[in-house]
Amino acid sequence: MAKTYDVAVIGGGATGTGIARDAALRGLKTILIEKKDFSAGTTGACGGMIHGGSRYLLFDVETTRLSCIDSGYIQNIASNLIFRIPFLIPIMKDDKYGIEKWEAFLKVYDKFQKYKSGKGHTRLTKEEALRLEPGLSHDIVGALSMDEWGIDVFRLTVLNALSAREAGADIRNHTEVAGFIKTGQRVKGIRVKDKISGKTEDIEARIVVNAAGPWVTKIAKMAGASVKLRPSRGVQIVFERRISNLGMTITAIDGRPLYFIPHEHTTILGTTDDDYFGDPDNLPIYNDDIEYLLTSAQRVFPEIRKYRRMRAMAGLRPSLFEWGKVEEDVSREFEIFDHEKDGASGFITIAGGKLAMYRLMAEKTTDLVCKKLKIKAKCTTHTTPLPGAEENLDTISLSEKFKLPFYVVKRLLFKYGTRAIDILNMIKKDVYQVSITCNCEAITEAELRYCIRNEWA
Ligand SMILES: Cc1cc2nc3c(=O)[nH]c(=O)nc-3n(C[C@H](O)[C@H](O)[C@H](O)COP(=O)(O)OP(=O)(O)OC[C@H]3O[C@@H](n4cnc5c(N)ncnc54)[C@H](O)[C@@H]3O)c2cc1C
Repeated sequence: MAKTYDVAVIGGGATGTGIARDAALRGLKTILIEKKDFSAGTTGACGGMIHGGSRYLLFDVETTRLSCIDSGYIQNIASNLIFRIPFLIPIMKDDKYGIEKWEAFLKVYDKFQKYKSGKGHTRLTKEEALRLEPGLSHDIVGALSMDEWGIDVFRLTVLNALSAREAGADIRNHTEVAGFIKTGQRVKGIRVKDKISGKTEDIEARIVVNAAGPWVTKIAKMAGASVKLRPSRGVQIVFERRISNLGMTITAIDGRPLYFIPHEHTTILGTTDDDYFGDPDNLPIYNDDIEYLLTSAQRVFPEIRKYRRMRAMAGLRPSLFEWGKVEEDVSREFEIFDHEKDGASGFITIAGGKLAMYRLMAEKTTDLVCKKLKIKAKCTTHTTPLPGAEENLDTISLSEKFKLPFYVVKRLLFKYGTRAIDILNMIKKDVYQVSITCNCEAITEAELRYCIRNEWA
């Protein structure tokens, strides 16, 4: 007889993998379904910052507060995956906000820094700022610092899925939810299609959770329910290498804030923020988006066009519906919809939110699942380390022990934490597996084999 799950989660982004982990750790029989690879949606196209979103202080203080608190938890459970991003806010004479206004604003943001191990801001003279960031325009009048954190989003979703699997969950990627099994108004499960074999299958579940990011509207419709979003398209440019020493917040041509984010060996310049009501599977990137970003950045960082652009990426923010606001003022709050009220009992949608509070969103959603199933089990995802993050290993001693270059070991420890030892042992057994398959990132053959064998790659 087919297995009946307590909960089937749709969507392998940060939110869905976070819910699958939380549910499995609470002892629920869980299955996670993702139609592509983990992080294939908005999560994989985001800026990767687990920040409070200082600008949300202007209209959405609670989002800043909750994001900062959850960022603190995420830093503890994923300690190997995070990196500090000290930001500089260079101020130009004719910027929308002068240095005094910016500083007043940062004094408020400083109050939230304690939640995410962040430092308070510092005011810098023009000379000090230019010494730190020589690529800046000499027309700046001064600068301010701001402390943020980044994370490897691709590893984050995989590790959430891995943790869920180790707690008993079934995890399927390249499997698409194509329909719902319903009796009257009661959702009894989902119909899925394996995108590799083409086989369809019915999966029974007592509760189905829709965590499909910008696809939640489409999925809800399949179940006979409805969710309204205000989706917004964000485009970012990825430069081949780090083009600045620090992260930077700059003012765009239309007064909006843009950012440079040093991310691993690359720099990300973003982002646009435009209403988009088209197909989330066919997100366009226009030359116009690229020109807007470059023209805006050039004013503060004049040589920007000389650096090699590796690619551009587009993501769709699954923001909650709001009427009468410009895109960037739309709230980043999240909401959990219990569709019992609109014709689909046993079906829940989570929408909105941010990467920086994905864990909290997962906790609140799983709380509702447990309530509906009358199961009393507490969330532990704020204290239980993700696989590999249980302890921090020393790069130098491991590179000596395994006779491997420092940078190869460092990268493995960053991505895999303590589980890097498994990859290092593969290399020890078969020295050919140390061959580098990607020069940009020093990816070894052993790592590729490990991901294929253990992590659904
Ligand atoms: C340009 C940009 C930059 C951003 N930067 C940041 C940032 O720095 N920090 C921050 O906190 N937030 C940031 N955000 C917001 C953040 O990225 C999102 O809030 C978050 O990643 C959403 O994750 P999710 O899991 O809800 O959705 P997604 O990541 O989109 O996951 C949904 C998943 O559902 C899957 N799916 C869809 N349909 C089906 C189906 N039928 N069957 C099975 N699976 C399906 C998709 O393939 C997808 O993987 C940014 C957003 C954008 C657009």
